[in-house]
Amino acid sequence: MGSDTNSASTESPGHRKGRTWERLRREPVTSLARVGPKIADGLAGLGIETIEDLLHHFPRDYIDRTTLLLIRDLPLGEEVTFTATVDKVSLRKPRPRLSLLEVDVSDSSGRIRLTWFNQPYRQRHFKVGEEFAISGKAEVFRGRIQISSPSYEKIEGESGIGTSLEVGRIVPVYPASAEISSALLRRLCWEALDRAGAFAESLTPAERNALKVQERTFAINAIHFPESMQDRTAARRRLVVDELMRTQLALGTKRRAYEAESKAIAHVDRAALLTSLIDSLPYPLTAAQQRVIAEIGESMRAPVPMHRMLQGEVGSGKTVVAAASLCIAVAGGHQGALMAPTEVLAEQHYYGLAPLLGEIGVRVKLLTGSTRDRQRVLAAVGRGEVDVLIGTHALVQEGVAFASLGLAVIDEQHRFGVHQRVHLRGQGADGLVPDMLIMTATPIPRTLAITIYGDLDVSTLDETPPGRSPVKTLWIRPDARDKAYEQIKKEIDAGGRAFVVCPLVEESSKLEAAAAEEEFRRLTEGPLAGIGVGLLHGRMRSADKEAAMAAFRSGETPVLVATTVIEVGVDVPEATVMMIESAERFGLSQLHQLRGRIGRGARLGVCYLVSEAESEDALARIKAVCSTSDGFELAEKDLELRGEGSLFGARQAGRTDLRLTSLLGDFPLIVKVREFANELLERDPDLDAHPVLKEESDRLVSGEVSWLEFG
Ligand code: ADP
Ligand code: MG
Repeated sequence: MGSDTNSASTESPGHRKGRTWERLRREPVTSLARVGPKIADGLAGLGIETIEDLLHHFPRDYIDRTTLLLIRDLPLGEEVTFTATVDKVSLRKPRPRLSLLEVDVSDSSGRIRLTWFNQPYRQRHFKVGEEFAISGKAEVFRGRIQISSPSYEKIEGESGIGTSLEVGRIVPVYPASAEISSALLRRLCWEALDRAGAFAESLTPAERNALKVQERTFAINAIHFPESMQDRTAARRRLVVDELMRTQLALGTKRRAYEAESKAIAHVDRAALLTSLIDSLPYPLTAAQQRVIAEIGESMRAPVPMHRMLQGEVGSGKTVVAAASLCIAVAGGHQGALMAPTEVLAEQHYYGLAPLLGEIGVRVKLLTGSTRDRQRVLAAVGRGEVDVLIGTHALVQEGVAFASLGLAVIDEQHRFGVHQRVHLRGQGADGLVPDMLIMTATPIPRTLAITIYGDLDVSTLDETPPGRSPVKTLWIRPDARDKAYEQIKKEIDAGGRAFVVCPLVEESSKLEAAAAEEEFRRLTEGPLAGIGVGLLHGRMRSADKEAAMAAFRSGETPVLVATTVIEVGVDVPEATVMMIESAERFGLSQLHQLRGRIGRGARLGVCYLVSEAESEDALARIKAVCSTSDGFELAEKDLELRGEGSLFGARQAGRTDLRLTSLLGDFPLIVKVREFANELLERDPDLDAHPVLKEESDRLVSGEVSWLEFG
């Protein structure tokens, strides 16, 4: 906030300039009148060390005490505020361990008693004849009206009520602690605001107009001490805009710097290959697929590295979009890589794509941990004789060197670490950076995508291919399992397949595998005896996994007992039933992923969530999954249920700067500020004309914001 060349100084003549604040904001809280070492310690416990920290410690709530009542008119049982004079103070000890402080107060209309139990020290706060502002709930106790433990504040001098922080106004309620009360925070903020005067304004009047926000000086004052609830709303809007603006400018600046220094392959779009791919498909592309392929093609042709996330519901047809993108790279003489998180998935991609791409002359190879002719494959990749390499982590291991990698497609990116993506980035020819397409079926709420993944472009497949019906999801108690087994048998008779998903054991894949084996035995010996049952878990050898998948596909074992290895991508159109054991152990999006494995053909899918959970939390999740099949809606619900912070994971650090912003509630504003920030950077890339914004976003970039890192 280093400048006062902006409008604030001219527009708020009554205030000292932002310079005062510039000095003040770094001062320790001990520079405030009432703050000694002990209070400073308590404040540090709330994360408050400087004056700026203090003023960024925003109220969590407000109590409207603008209306003063007469004692005669006090309604019972409601929080009310009035002023009155002390008539009598008495401290009694009705029993040995009990003290009772009674303070009788009155105004022109009547008299009322205030009481406190076991707080004898309050006696010295009250002297007969003094006037107080009092807030609390009037109640009838033994036939008398009284107020127990009200809050109170002495009114001093003529204008006392006007400057009171406790009554006759909207009173801020701060997040407090045992050492530091909300009332103390009120007084400290008041003093800090008084000393600060004006705050450096970051936006011109025209910009404020465009964003429909008030001046910053108004906003910081009014968020703490609003004169009306409308003022508070306006103040909050301005401060949310400030938070978002810093974040978006920091992301935007960082991104521009990255794009400026790394040159990417500017893919030439020889449309022929893409056209033959599309012509060879047994179905027409959905409108969403067409749109997304066009978006990807456009960024691939640009000379800056593509960093795009492709998100789409399970079954929305991401694979063919990946194939089309790979064709764009191959058409221009480069190579493509498709990396999947598990062998099962990599193989599935390979068996799905190799025929499709092979038919149009694209050479596809598979590379996983269990590839036998690894050296031969690697040599061919190095000579450029393989166009598309599909695989697992094996793709990013030592010894893998592409002739010219043009595009890396990463399926389910959340399972990959940063260094793996860095490895891929070094695989382009002549130091050019390959384009990156990250596919995820875990829909990220749009709010999150924009605020936190501001460094990624996002393409969304928001349409599923026709003829797909949503999966019906039912919650059953364990004693109703038989119902599900009946359904499984019925579906199998009709040519269907069924999954039984074993309880998640996050800490140990060994325990999880053991549980799956146990469930397999239980089912084959009991409820599903006589039916072909297969087993698939992460600890099996890959040849066995492959065999299990093949037997399931062919219908030889129409039931597959599996762990979450089937969570992503497993595509067997005949699968119509799924039973998820101990469903409460799974996250909301995980349940959604799992059930996406069924109902991929024309027949309706049924998913049973087996759970005896009692906790409100688990039930809320299970009910949410049953109530909607829309992944985006669920993602938003997840955000609501788990709280916003929990979704950020490693990117958590960035969260600390968004104190007031609600990712859910402020969505329209988030979109608006993002657009605004991008346009601003177009016009003023170095923010020369916006020194205050520059300083603020620089502070964010240089700070703890590791989440701004690319890759
Ligand atoms: P995702 O990876 O997004 O979950 P897939 O790419 O596996 O989805 O596609 C799911 C199924 O839909 C596959 O069987 C695929 O062949 C089929 N499919 C994809 N696009 C279309 C389309 N436009 N019309 C009909 N079926 C499609
Ligand atoms: Mg897929």
